[in-house]
Amino acid sequence: MADSTILITGGASGIGAAIVRTAFAEFENVFFSDIQDDLGEKLAVETGATYLNQDVSNEKRWKEVMAEIVSATGRLDALINNAGIFLGGCIEDTEMDLWMKMIAVNQTGTMLGCREAISVMKENPGGPKGSIVNMSSITGFIGLANGAAYGATKGAVRLLSKSIAVHCAKEYKDIRCNSVHPGAIDTPMNQAAFEASGDAAGTRAFFETLQPIGRMGTSEEIANGVMFLASDKSSFVTGTELLIDGGWLAASGPL
Ligand code: NAD
Repeated sequence: MADSTILITGGASGIGAAIVRTAFAEFENVFFSDIQDDLGEKLAVETGATYLNQDVSNEKRWKEVMAEIVSATGRLDALINNAGIFLGGCIEDTEMDLWMKMIAVNQTGTMLGCREAISVMKENPGGPKGSIVNMSSITGFIGLANGAAYGATKGAVRLLSKSIAVHCAKEYKDIRCNSVHPGAIDTPMNQAAFEASGDAAGTRAFFETLQPIGRMGTSEEIANGVMFLASDKSSFVTGTELLIDGGWLAASGPL
């Protein structure tokens, strides 16, 4: 896409960093944001993408980031709402501060991004156009006993994406919104969760067996799916879910 612009949130690490590395294949202007400035600035030097500090749960900062991007490129063609956190715990251990933090980042952060992106995409030169990709999870489909708050936010992201897709299709035709649902992917988020379990190797092996392909996915495998949805290659795809889970949901039971 000529003169096209993409923003990736949570782009300094893991899946987000892989999306940043892939994005120049489809977009000319690549922006990414995060709260980890050291990693963000390093990746900006490596890739030539522009790094912005942004806490996605901060409404005011969303408006500033959009203004910076419009001022620099005059448009926004794709937003990847990838930033997310995992704070584990079953429902009986879910304290209010954990619950509210999970909702603030994973759910409110995604909602704010969608709302602010649409306000720019509908004014794009040439007419309303754009693609929003929201990072949900396999846990947007299935229960995770030790991740009650996380699963709740990822289910919300899945259905929020559909409401946005229907609204934008009716109002603007070419503004699309879809969700992506990774299985267990080898990123710092999972490494931290495995360490926290007290048996990192055993927990990793367990998650590998949940996926019929028999291994964890890579960040690049998620980035490839995200780029399909972000680009015009998916111009008739909206309101749908892309599972990238090594067959986990298809098996839906002991293998
Ligand atoms: P990660 O921890 O490696 O990367 C997440 C990034 O988001 C980090 O760079 C972090 O600094 C950033 N971030 C956290 N809070 C933020 C905030 N308030 N504002 C802006 N940025 C913030 O994790 P990952 O595994 O790459 O996860 C990326 C996305 O994929 C998340 O939404 C996650 O829920 C989802 N996901 C991951 C897996 C997996 O197995 N790793 C599976 C399903 C879904």
